[in-house]
Amino acid sequence: MSNKLPSVLLRAGEDRRVRGGHPWAFSNEILMDAETKALPPGSLAILRAPGGEALGLVTFNPHSLIAARLLTSNPEAKVDALFFGRRIAQAAALRDKLIGIPYYRLMHAEADGLPGVIVDRFGDSLVVQVNTAGMDVLTPILLEALEAELSPKTIVLKNDSPVRELEGLKREVTVAKGEDVDPIELTENGATFVADLSGGQKTGWFYDQRDNRRFMAGLAKDASVLDVYSYSGGFGVLAAREGAKSVTCIDRSAAALDAARQAAKLNGVDKIMTFEKAEAFETLEKLRGTAARKFDVVICDPPAFVKSRKDLKTGAQGYRKLVRLAAPLVARGGFFFVASCSHLADTALFAEQVRRGLRDAERTGRILRSSGAALDHPVHPSLPETAYLKALTLQLD
Ligand code: SAH
Repeated sequence: MSNKLPSVLLRAGEDRRVRGGHPWAFSNEILMDAETKALPPGSLAILRAPGGEALGLVTFNPHSLIAARLLTSNPEAKVDALFFGRRIAQAAALRDKLIGIPYYRLMHAEADGLPGVIVDRFGDSLVVQVNTAGMDVLTPILLEALEAELSPKTIVLKNDSPVRELEGLKREVTVAKGEDVDPIELTENGATFVADLSGGQKTGWFYDQRDNRRFMAGLAKDASVLDVYSYSGGFGVLAAREGAKSVTCIDRSAAALDAARQAAKLNGVDKIMTFEKAEAFETLEKLRGTAARKFDVVICDPPAFVKSRKDLKTGAQGYRKLVRLAAPLVARGGFFFVASCSHLADTALFAEQVRRGLRDAERTGRILRSSGAALDHPVHPSLPETAYLKALTLQLD
């Protein structure tokens, strides 16, 4: 079957990285003759070394910078629901071992062998994000495999990520299976939360912060807590549940705060929580200016400030500003958690901005913990730059 597939050929000298295990070939590394250029975006193809040797099967998009994405190094493989099913089963077995309950990121793209595919699991509901033309073409097979492996009640195709535009894909949200069940309840760290799978941000919930939430909740006993960019209360509600004295959640999304309020009720901590719909920087400035209020624990988990390579500098400065504004609100001896989900800002750059922000605020302290995304967000060994989440926890003097 596979010998009927078209071939795409790497240019002279450009096969080394793929032979070394890297799962991508960029468009400038591929011999773009008229025939190759004319292949429909998302075509399945055999990737060949300059000498003609088959290196594996790829999905190919002649219009994307990341033109070829390796599905398997076996050029004879049959890419069908069984092929997808094996990868899904393997990923599910790993999560069942790591997390133990069916609330997790099930598929994390290349790291789980399905480039461009994100699947978050909420019990018997799945949220799927397909971010490449290749996987868009293969979506029916992906859905068939998810059905065969997990028989979910609901599958939401949350295909609204801006990265789809780089692949020439439409942005849309559809319910591929079942009823729209929103909002749903999920369990994490022993607490109950509320997520809107089709209308929320990204997949509706940020599982990546699971371990960081638990760690911060451990520091929050008897503490006053400020959770900035709280979304639906992942940090704040857990801190309240684990014994915080008071928790203030700030976010500019009313829908996210509604979900946080519901979670507070479900966990019996609504009496000690307050919610404010507001702009983060403005609120931080206001809190410092007016009441000179201090918190024992301040958590800042903003959206990605660096969205593209060209705004690396200004975006990175956003973290410095955030730290400059938030650090003054941390009580002496208190704890400060700050995160970046900008994949373009690496750990060193982020840590440098945090250091500068602390200097600007004239605060000293110590880094207690440097962490990333939870274990259900594995990283392909050849794509360390896709480890997007960086977080620092400090104690401030
Ligand atoms: N900490 C959350 C995830 C945060 S995601 C958790 O644990 O789940 C980033 C959040 O920042 C989103 O909820 C978004 O609505 C909010 N946000 C983005 N820009 C903002 C701004 N300028 N001011 C306040 N909130 C903002």
